[in-house]
Amino acid sequence: MLLAEFAPLALIAIASTGINKLQSLCVSSSGIPKDSATIWVPESCAGITGTQVYNTSLKKHVASLWYNQKAFVFCLATGAVVRLIAPLLGNKSSDPAVLVIDEKGQFVISLCGGHQGGGDRLAQLIATKIGATPILTGASASLELPAVDMLGVPFGWCRGKGDWTAVSASVVRGEPVQVVQEAGSTIWRTAKGVEKSSLCFEETVDTTAKIWITYKSFTDKNSTHKPSTHKSSTQNSPFKLKDQNYTEQPEKSIVTWYPKVLWVGIGCERGTPRKVIEAAIKNTFQEYQLAKDAIAGIATIDIKSDEVGLVELCANNNLPLRTFSREILKNISVPNPSQIVAKEVGTPSVAEAAALLAALIPSHTDKELTDKELTEEILNSSQGKTKGEMLIPKQIFRLEGQPGAVTVAVTKSEREYTGRKGKILLVGTGPGELQQITPAAKTAIASVDAVIGYGLYLDLISPLLRTGQIIEALPITKERQRAQRAIELANWGLSVAVVSSGDCGIYGMAGLVLEELQVCGWDGKTPGIEIFPGITALQAAASRVGTPLMHDFCAISLSDLLTPWEVIEKRLQAAAAADFVTALYNPKSKTRTEQLTIATNIFLQHRNPNTTVAVVRSAYREDEQITITTLDKLLDVSVDMLTIVLIGNQSTRNYCEWMITPRGYIN
Ligand code: SAH
Repeated sequence: MLLAEFAPLALIAIASTGINKLQSLCVSSSGIPKDSATIWVPESCAGITGTQVYNTSLKKHVASLWYNQKAFVFCLATGAVVRLIAPLLGNKSSDPAVLVIDEKGQFVISLCGGHQGGGDRLAQLIATKIGATPILTGASASLELPAVDMLGVPFGWCRGKGDWTAVSASVVRGEPVQVVQEAGSTIWRTAKGVEKSSLCFEETVDTTAKIWITYKSFTDKNSTHKPSTHKSSTQNSPFKLKDQNYTEQPEKSIVTWYPKVLWVGIGCERGTPRKVIEAAIKNTFQEYQLAKDAIAGIATIDIKSDEVGLVELCANNNLPLRTFSREILKNISVPNPSQIVAKEVGTPSVAEAAALLAALIPSHTDKELTDKELTEEILNSSQGKTKGEMLIPKQIFRLEGQPGAVTVAVTKSEREYTGRKGKILLVGTGPGELQQITPAAKTAIASVDAVIGYGLYLDLISPLLRTGQIIEALPITKERQRAQRAIELANWGLSVAVVSSGDCGIYGMAGLVLEELQVCGWDGKTPGIEIFPGITALQAAASRVGTPLMHDFCAISLSDLLTPWEVIEKRLQAAAAADFVTALYNPKSKTRTEQLTIATNIFLQHRNPNTTVAVVRSAYREDEQITITTLDKLLDVSVDMLTIVLIGNQSTRNYCEWMITPRGYIN
């Protein structure tokens, strides 16, 4: 799943060590769908499993693959790769990502297509996966500044025209770059790196460059569009957009991003051809200076879900078609209700009502909502939680010499449609030290758009967090809100990692996220979930003191915030009586001090006072403290929330300060 977004992927090596390296990348856990990554080898290496042979020269072979691959990974000398791809390079908005890995697998070079081709991200993912150093030489990556031509990608924004090179260079040089945002979410401003960049959100005198985030298009003032078609407007005077355009400040370098915020409501006569609907939309967008790249989707009434022209239009332009029942549509108040339409289809508005509805649905997944869920959303929106704004009330359109008629209405949603299927990665980051995180978990963290976790744990993994990632620290006691936040972002289309220290499914956030998803009526698939285990505190602590867990053991949390104390006490009694080695999580906090005393007394009822006990604080962290003691002296040791207590069973012993629980091999 992690590398899936880079498929189809061509991996090329010409010698066995390189081929082995590439094979290790393609193992099932890489999540590259079968058949979408191919390892290509020369005839001299034929017969190696999982590889395909190319029969021509490598140069011809690469040329034949070039235009239909998202990424190339070469295990070859950089010079050779440069010569191979030089004749094929076009421009950075369309070229695939090209990466080079050295034969030893020490370095992953993002050679070209680093930003828009996704090469830098792929290099980081592969590097974390194989334990190599990613070599990113793009200026923004080296300076840990946001990449101007990447910042809208997680949210499905469309990159418009403009001098991307000049604006990116301004950011890299630290010159003030003005951001004017008229559409879409502003969450990207919290991404790592943005705060220390020179992007400014107020107009300052000396800005030389501008990033325009908008749903408006600009037209040359001298070439006003004159529709050659007949168009009758409704009685309401059409809304005029405030005319803000490029020509105001021609000396600036400007780039444009288009968040997909415009919902186009369509009503049409049965059998209206696609080109008439297309012309109606084009006409409306030109007349009101709206950007077609900002179109989120098309909205209409459910009886039109099989309207050929509409279905074709959506398929050709890769737009979602949202449909609503007349029962829902008729309750939406619109600027131009029509009694004629009401008589014909049972709702006084199709185009306006459908466009308004589509704009206010916060969930941007393509899941069809039931009428009941929709009614709930409408209720929420009337309470001001989400907003849809009518931009262009209905326009009626016909094309001379063509059958059919179309009504078009355009609304603007507060939050953009990402068009992406979100996912949540539940990641355990181990006890604290970066070396104790699994490579899979590291890759998972590097791959996502957003990372959510406790501040302390996010600090511990800060070297793994990437520029451009949204990092949200969660305060203790706000766990539920954070799980909901992760689900919200994933439903919107982002990939989100929820990180917990240790293992995420052992007193961690993972369980809460799954429970919360169940509460939301999750279908088990969308958002997608993947879980990355981590080394839990009891394993980490055990490995620092010896082998206390060599026989049956259990974990008990002494925190009674979520579990009634009677239950905890019952489990302590049972564990003590059954001679389990026992790990006590959450043994003590500033306000919870009694629990450890009670637990110790329970164990003393069943075990020898000399039983070996380890008290480990902050295992694998800088301030690690380890004490090996006995049960009767446990309460003399200082214990806090960062500590875990391991109580041995009746055969556990302390040998030269090593805690050993015999398995039974010897006697
Ligand atoms: N998900 C975590 C546990 C979270 S509960 C895991 O799997 O490890 C928090 C408790 O875990 C702390 O109160 C402490 O008892 C224990 N703990 C977590 N990390 C620890 C570490 N590095 N050293 C010692 N105890 C730790």
